Amino acid sequence: MFLTISTTGTPERPATDLGFLLHKHPDKAQAFSTSHGQAHVLYPEATAERCTAALVLEVDPVALVRRGKGKGRGGAPDAALAQYVNDRPYAASSLLAVALSAVFKNALRGDCKARPELPERAMPLRVEIPALPARGGAELVRKLFEPVGWTSVQAEPVPLDGRFPEWGDSRYVTLVLEGELRLAEALRQLYVLLPVLDDAKHYWVAPDEVDKLLRAGEGWLADHPEQKLITSRYLSRRWGLTRQAMERLELVRLAEAEGLEVEDVDNAVDEAVDTEERPVPLAEQRREAILAALGAAGASRVLDLGCGQGQLVQALLKDVRFTDVVGVDVSVRALSIAAKRLRLDRMGERMSDRVTLLQGSLTYTDKRLKGYDAAVLSEVIEHLDLPRLPALEYAVFGSARPTTVLVTTPNVEYNVRWETLPAGHVRHGDHRFEWTRGEFRTWAGDVAGRHGYDVEFVPVGPDDPDVGPPTQMAVFTLAAPTPKEEKAA
Ligand code: SAH
Repeated sequence: MFLTISTTGTPERPATDLGFLLHKHPDKAQAFSTSHGQAHVLYPEATAERCTAALVLEVDPVALVRRGKGKGRGGAPDAALAQYVNDRPYAASSLLAVALSAVFKNALRGDCKARPELPERAMPLRVEIPALPARGGAELVRKLFEPVGWTSVQAEPVPLDGRFPEWGDSRYVTLVLEGELRLAEALRQLYVLLPVLDDAKHYWVAPDEVDKLLRAGEGWLADHPEQKLITSRYLSRRWGLTRQAMERLELVRLAEAEGLEVEDVDNAVDEAVDTEERPVPLAEQRREAILAALGAAGASRVLDLGCGQGQLVQALLKDVRFTDVVGVDVSVRALSIAAKRLRLDRMGERMSDRVTLLQGSLTYTDKRLKGYDAAVLSEVIEHLDLPRLPALEYAVFGSARPTTVLVTTPNVEYNVRWETLPAGHVRHGDHRFEWTRGEFRTWAGDVAGRHGYDVEFVPVGPDDPDVGPPTQMAVFTLAAPTPKEEKAA
């Protein structure tokens, strides 16, 4: 399987600059071993006027099966044979995309130390892929490539057998793309869209695939009209991951509109319950559990402490029982994205009277937070270093002292049930700790004791008989003051 990338040039801007960008010298043929076979980079032509780089991947289908990597297309009666005799060696598939990213890693990132100005420059590019498996056919190929800068997208269906035209077309197309693009962007598009068109991933989809997709999609995916199809196929239709990716792309769009850097927005990843049977994402189940507990407590004035992007604030505002909703976060960026999400600037007066966003740190006492019916700390405590927890405890339970406090946090015991979570990993890079049910109960019990609250525990998400639920929630209720205390007050 192979693809070629060509560019044209002038004596001042020679086409052979392509070699700098790809970090591969045009005079040399080089070989690389990748996880799926041997990759070669060579230049069939390299002059100032025209330069073509070819990436050729030799796939060994037998080795793929032996290493358990060739099982992408099982199911058919001839599956056993198809594992060995298949299109893998010839068709540009996700394997080619993987090789592309391995061999041209720096080029994909747009790094070029020798000539830092080069990657920024759009250049005339022509990409050819003779055999591209395309589920969805030539029409989908055009829908995917035309919106992202290619002026010409030719996708010719390849007949099943040239000698028997009546047999019709195969599922392959010959693809030729032409346009003025930055090379890094073109490569990143191919890296994502080849497997999307192939629609059969040949390796395991792990949560970091979402990160990879967002990195590779930078600059073109957030506004792509086929974003949903791209995201869901890229992530092998794992709807939980797809949804997570779509939410993050939405953030990218919002942040771009504000001129913000997205990486700085610290927020909990919406870990979804990632199975077909449970289509409600865990983040949503958590919000529902919180709304139910607030309703049961009869709360109407509510603090959302560590409100992040403001999803819960938004949900609270939809319910008229909540007359006063305050979102607090330490991150200004998170708050401005929350404001955008809530359309705070376009909100009618009656609605805007009900909502406030405040910047503040939960590890300091804050007079503005006194006198509320309830406070929610949804997936917040695990973002603090353990030694800071007593400060938060005092600020919330000692100083703000709402009647009801809801605290949710991951149950680390459940992590083994996350098929995509490698053993021993926490669910989010910024989690400073994750607790077992026992650890959480001990902490919550001590806090309740120290500050005069009662506490109960509610599972959120499927309550596994062995490891418990994915999210654990503690419902603290201020104990009725004793007559003596009442007198003192
Ligand atoms: N409650 C939201 C966001 C959870 S992510 C949800 O359930 O989705 C954790 C949030 O806590 C982040 O937005 C982070 O900025 C905020 N946070 C972390 N430490 C904080 C602190 N000391 N004071 C206030 N907010 C904090």
